[in-house]
Amino acid sequence: MTDIIKIKDWINNAENVIIGAGAGLSDAAGIHYTGEKFEHDFKDWIKKYGIEDLYTSSFYPFKTEEEKWAYWAKHIYFSYYERKHTELYRKLYDLVKNKNYFVITTNTDGQFINNGFDQEKVFEVQGSYSKLQCSIPCHNKLYYNEEHIKEMLDNIDNDLKIPSALVPKCPVCGKNMSVNLRCDNTFVEDDNWNLMQNRYDNFIKNKSDKNLLLLEFGIGFNTPGIIRFPFEQMTYIHDNFKLIRFNDKYSDIPKGIQDRAISANDDIREIIDLLL
Ligand SMILES: [Zn+2]
Repeated sequence: MTDIIKIKDWINNAENVIIGAGAGLSDAAGIHYTGEKFEHDFKDWIKKYGIEDLYTSSFYPFKTEEEKWAYWAKHIYFSYYERKHTELYRKLYDLVKNKNYFVITTNTDGQFINNGFDQEKVFEVQGSYSKLQCSIPCHNKLYYNEEHIKEMLDNIDNDLKIPSALVPKCPVCGKNMSVNLRCDNTFVEDDNWNLMQNRYDNFIKNKSDKNLLLLEFGIGFNTPGIIRFPFEQMTYIHDNFKLIRFNDKYSDIPKGIQDRAISANDDIREIIDLLL
């Protein structure tokens, strides 16, 4: 049974907080990559390509750029623009807005910055659906895509293709573009990415003699080296750091930090409601 009183006490008394978030948090917020809405919105793609969910479909080898971008326009709209505001992320913001906070997330759906969090304090390590990059890449600039994505979406034909004229091309080299998501070594880390990395590192460094509460939400073992393991290590090294792990599947706390860590394996939505 999760110790709600202790969690409340730790959060209420925390001046400095880092939120670390993974896929489980956006799933709890209602952005599901499988299920009813996916099956409804993607029924034509399921029929034509046999895609089963929005994780594996990202790797589908579309034969043409016109088909690929029709799919990506749909995927990006579904995962980012259609549901910019979710109740759960807003509640999470309310929980930490009066504290000195920083966010690190592997999620690429922009939910933190679109629900109140200061974008100067949100490090989206794995990129964002909202940005395009050169696929080579020949340069490291990123391009916001909202208008372009909506235009593509409006022009998908019955064969699930967009017009060739709408296929995004790199303004520098003319080659194809890709979505700024880390899936291989072509991922662009632009100036802002590096700035946020430095801010995150400095936020932690400056807390080495202060109390810091690490709030980890929905991080499993897909990429545990980015947030989950470092959070455990920081808690282990610094006596003044504490960790609360919110995870309904993988909530174990390693030995050695159990006196400074709490495991909360309830549904994230339910537990946030209890904390507000
Ligand atoms: Zn280029």
